[in-house]
Amino acid sequence: MSPAKWNIILKIHRQKQGEAPHFEEFPMQVDPDEYVLDAVERVWAFMDRSLCFRHACHHSTCGACGMRVNDVEKLTCITPIREVTRDGATLKVEPLRNFPVVSDLAVDMGTFYSRMETVGARAVLPVSEAEIENPPTTWDADESQYIRLADCIECGLCISACPAAATSTEYLGPAVLAGAQDQGLKRNLKLLELVDSEDGLWRCHSAFECTAVCPSFVDPARRIMDLRMQVIEERFKRLFRKP
Ligand code: SF4
Repeated sequence: MSPAKWNIILKIHRQKQGEAPHFEEFPMQVDPDEYVLDAVERVWAFMDRSLCFRHACHHSTCGACGMRVNDVEKLTCITPIREVTRDGATLKVEPLRNFPVVSDLAVDMGTFYSRMETVGARAVLPVSEAEIENPPTTWDADESQYIRLADCIECGLCISACPAAATSTEYLGPAVLAGAQDQGLKRNLKLLELVDSEDGLWRCHSAFECTAVCPSFVDPARRIMDLRMQVIEERFKRLFRKP
C-alpha cells in the first residue's frame, strides 16, 4: 500500500535580477518519503517554468542542490520531506547564505571554487596527478582522465551556515580552510601566509556550525583547529630556525 499523501505548502524564495527578494507559495500534495528536491522540481515542471535552481546527480555526489530548508542547510536531494515538515504545514526553501544570489534558489559559487583551487584542494584531478595505488591503465575515454579524490563535494553548506562567513565576504571559510589543512604547510610559504592572514583561520569563532551541516563528514571545524596547530608549529619552527 502506498503511503498516505501529505498536503504541504512549498514556500520558495524568489528573486530575479533587479527584483526585491520575496516568497511565493505553492500548495501541493507530496509523498512524505519523497525528497525536498522532488517537490522543488514539481514546481518547475507543473507550476512555474521560470523557477531557477541548481541540481545534477540526485544522489549527494555533486553538491549542486544545497539550499536552506526551514532555515537549515541541506542537500535537498537526500532530505526526505517527512524529516523537515508535517502534513498540513509549510516548507520553506531558500538559497544558501553568504553567496551572491543569481536567481531564485541558485547562488554563484565561482569565488568559492576558485578559493578551493588556490589552496590546492581541487575536487577533481587528472589521473596522472592522482596518488592512488594501481591506477587503471585501460581507460581511454576523455572524461576518464579525471578522478574525484576529495571527500568534500564543494556543496557550500558549511559556508552558508558559518557565522564568520556572514561577517566578511573575504573570509576563506570552512571548506577552503579544511582543504588547506590537507595540503601541508611545511614547504608552502604562500599557503601558510594565506591561511594565517586576516581572512584566514583566526576568523573562525569555533561555532562548529560547518561540521553540523556537512553532508560528507568532512568535519571542517576540527580540520580548522588542526590547521591552527600546524600554523603555530610552523611559525615557531621558522622563528627558531638557524640561518
Ligand atoms: S566541507 Fe562539507 S559542507 Fe563544506 S563544501 Fe565540503 S562537503 Fe560541503
